[in-house]
Amino acid sequence: MDGVSNALTGVAAHKARIADLIGVAPVVELPLADCLGLVLASDAVAPVALPPFDNSAMDGYAVRVADLAELPVVLPVPEDIPAGRTDVVPLEPGTAHRIMTGAPVPPGADAVVQVEWTDAGVRSVRIDRGVRLGQNVRWAEDDVKVGEVALRAGRVLGAAQLGLVSALGIPALPVRRRLRVLVLSTGSELVAPGEPLLPGQIYESNGLMLAAAVREAGGEAEQLRFVPDDVDRFRAVVEERIGGFDLLLTSGGVSAGAYEVVKDALTGRGVEFTKVAMQPGGPQGSGRYLGVPVATLPGNPVSAQVSFEVFVRPALRAAMGFVDVERPTAVARLRGSISSPSGRTQFRRGAYDAGSGQVVTPVGGPGSHLLSSLALSNCLIEVPAEVDELADGDEVLVRLL
Ligand code: AMP
Ligand code: MG
Repeated sequence: MDGVSNALTGVAAHKARIADLIGVAPVVELPLADCLGLVLASDAVAPVALPPFDNSAMDGYAVRVADLAELPVVLPVPEDIPAGRTDVVPLEPGTAHRIMTGAPVPPGADAVVQVEWTDAGVRSVRIDRGVRLGQNVRWAEDDVKVGEVALRAGRVLGAAQLGLVSALGIPALPVRRRLRVLVLSTGSELVAPGEPLLPGQIYESNGLMLAAAVREAGGEAEQLRFVPDDVDRFRAVVEERIGGFDLLLTSGGVSAGAYEVVKDALTGRGVEFTKVAMQPGGPQGSGRYLGVPVATLPGNPVSAQVSFEVFVRPALRAAMGFVDVERPTAVARLRGSISSPSGRTQFRRGAYDAGSGQVVTPVGGPGSHLLSSLALSNCLIEVPAEVDELADGDEVLVRLL
């Protein structure tokens, strides 16, 4: 025997191990254009107020409400104030300044009459309807005060958040940077899509799938061309390319057969291989190689993707500071039945329907080669290790993908 214990590692234990390995992403200051989807690392404090000055909410005339006691009234218009005018002339009693939306309301004015309520005059204006004090004025600091925390640390920076920060004149923000993941598939049977296929060969799919999953999780992925089951080739490619990455993610070559390239290349070099009590995705490895964290996923496409979901995705998201690290879950009624190996957590592909009474229907069987079932599902059905059989109508936990 090879001295490896037959005891299975628990799902939670392996998950914690991967999370520990990946740790926390460094904080970097990035220009706003590069911050989309990242997590703010410290509070963003407003250096200016919003609005920064009293400004008009309408195209119209800046007036004193006291001058509109009797209507209609005709007032001279000494000044024109388009948006962007910076030398604002105070308003004298008995006059009106023509003003545009967003332009500074002049000192002395206490309301704006919208142009539709006037004759739209340029040298003088006839005003037909009155306004309340402050009507159509957007006061300085209405929205944000100087020195106020505009966004708290931990916020995910989406379009609206980036808009706010731009409005405050902040050009760059401290964020947890995207983790850089190097993706490498292994297998002598693999052929790149687009190339001819000989009998016994298959098209490579894990590399693109895992790189996409990394990006969906918020990380940065570089997908290398797959390598054959050749330990020296594997090590040479990894050694040449691994520098600067936060994680090496491999697929294939970790189970119990012969020609297990990843296992053979990394055993005794900082990576430990184990069997996790789950289906699919039993064979797993984790550790550090050349100082870089490594997670080695099994090669069956469904195993690789489910392993990524269960172990790698939450770790990447936690490292990048996201609060919602896990997929949303729901309790659903099972349509059909499921049997699951005892002592292992099973993750089955499912179609979850939130509308019609929260039901979930298994998609395809448990086989870890059934990639179309995965592609057609919208959730994973989680069958706990201690449950062997689930019947029609039973309650199950689903992870919504
Ligand atoms: P392995 O874990 O290397 O023993 O592979 C298990 C199964 O997954 C085999 O049927 C492989 O052909 C298949 N497989 C491994 N890697 C890939 C890959 N990158 N793309 C598609 N299928 C793969
Ligand atoms: Mg293989």
